[in-house]
Order: sequence, then structure tokens, then C-alpha cells
Amino acid sequence: MTTALITGASRGIGKAAAKRFAKSGWDLLLTARDAEALQELSNELKVETASKIAYKSIDLSNPDILSSELRDLLKMGSCPSVLINNAGVAWTGEMLSMPISQWQWLIQMNVTSIFQVCSEVVPLMRLNGGLVINVSSHAARNAFPQWGAYCVSKAALASFTKCLAEEERIHSIRACTLTLGAVNTTLWDSETVESDFNRNAMLSEDSVAEALFNLAQLPPDQVIEDLTLMPANGAF
Ligand code: NAP
Repeated sequence: MTTALITGASRGIGKAAAKRFAKSGWDLLLTARDAEALQELSNELKVETASKIAYKSIDLSNPDILSSELRDLLKMGSCPSVLINNAGVAWTGEMLSMPISQWQWLIQMNVTSIFQVCSEVVPLMRLNGGLVINVSSHAARNAFPQWGAYCVSKAALASFTKCLAEEERIHSIRACTLTLGAVNTTLWDSETVESDFNRNAMLSEDSVAEALFNLAQLPPDQVIEDLTLMPANGAF
């Protein structure tokens, strides 16, 4: 049986991905902060599927506890063959007016926590090979006013992924980026995001979950290094 570790699984893309993988019989290690939401999802998946689900509430914005908490989660299931670094946050506003605490929070969440998660999980995967999928945004390749810090963080993540892929190739670890246009998730309701984009014109969580599943299904001698999925309506 194959196991996937998914961060940010309490809602949005991560939750949809957990459902998609469980539907096809994958065992799951899930994390986010909201323990109640994780428990609810786990209960639902245990009723609907034969997958083994383990979860742990971890605050990825706290670099001091993240690694030890993650080690606890890893002990709760089999070694993952797929790691989906999906948890992420956004902040809108003029970049240079951003309080440094918010800047550090965003960089911790969107870049440093992924470095920390990979540092714990990837060495375990080396024995049997594996795949790391980092969820990025087309903001990585653009300079959107009011979204500067988010653009910077996702550009750094895309570079991190390429470097990881090169360094880990000798261990049969593949790393890829899923680059997304706007997706209709709770991200757009975040306290730190102000936007009046048309939510109905965005990608659905389920279509992104399907893309993640397709990436994970590739045989070990192949990798899609960067898959870009945009709404047919384009960028807005
Ligand atoms: P979302 O609906 O806001 O969900 C974010 C997930 O991250 C939640 O499960 C949340 O769980 C978790 N999270 C947030 N803060 C956390 C923390 N401090 N510690 C641990 N987990 C935390 O967002 P989404 O749209 O699904 O986004 C998922 C990924 O897709 C992100 O990396 C985002 O940048 C990327 N993306 C999204 C869009 C879009 O339009 N939605 C477009 C391009 C890329 P808890 O609150 O329970 O902790």
C-alpha cells in the first residue's frame, strides 16, 4: 500500500487531495492546525474508504516545534512515497508596508516550513525512492501589485524545488512543482487577503486534487518537473 503525506489537509486543496488519494486506496498522513477538521476528515475517509489515515495538528508557522511534531506524525504510519507540501498562506498589501512579523510568517509558511518538512521526510524516502510535490502559484512567475511578498515566497519555493530535484536525483527522489492559477478555496476568505475576484471563474479544488493525483501516478522513471494548471478564464 502506498502512503502520501499531505500538509494543509484540513480544508481547501489539501482536503480535496486527501479525499482523492484515499478514494484510490492510498494511506494518508495528514497535518494542519485544525485538529477537529482533521478528525472529521479522517472519520469520513475511514467510513468511505479502506485507507489507513493518521493525522496530527502541527503549526507550520512555528519553526521550533515543527520538526519534532512531524517526526511524531511519521511514526503513526508507513514511510510516505509521496510528500505534498500544500499548506501555504497569502497576504495582500503594499510590500514595503508589510510588518516584518507578517513577512517572516509568510516566508516561514511558504518556504522555510517546506525546507523543514523535506529535511525530515526526504531522508526517510531515500531507501525506496519517492516524489515531493510542492504547491506553487503563477505568482511565482509574475509581479502582481499588492501580492509582492506572496510572489517572492512562491518564486523561492519554485527554486527550492528545482535545487531539491537536482540534489536528490541520486537517491531516486523526484521533486516537482504544481503551479496553479486561482483556485476557489478558503484562501480567499483569509483575514490577510483582500480580493474581489470572481470565485466562480476559478479552478475547483477537485480539479487540483486530480492534477496532484495524476502527478503522483507517474512511474518512478518519469517526472513532470513543473505542471501549470490555470482556469480556462485565464489569470485575474
Ligand atoms: P486554504 O484553503 O487557505 O488552506 C490552507 C491550508 O493550509 C489549510 O489546511 C490550513 O489549515 C493550512 N495552514 C494554514 N496555516 C497553517 C499553519 N500555520 N500551520 C499548518 N497549516 C496551516 O488554501 P488553499 O487555496 O487550499 O492553498 C493551498 C496551497 O495552494 C497554498 O500553498 C497556496 O499558496 C496554493 N495556491 C492556492 C491558490 C488559490 O487560488 N487558492 C492559487 C495558487 C496556489 P489550518 O488552518 O487548519 O492550519
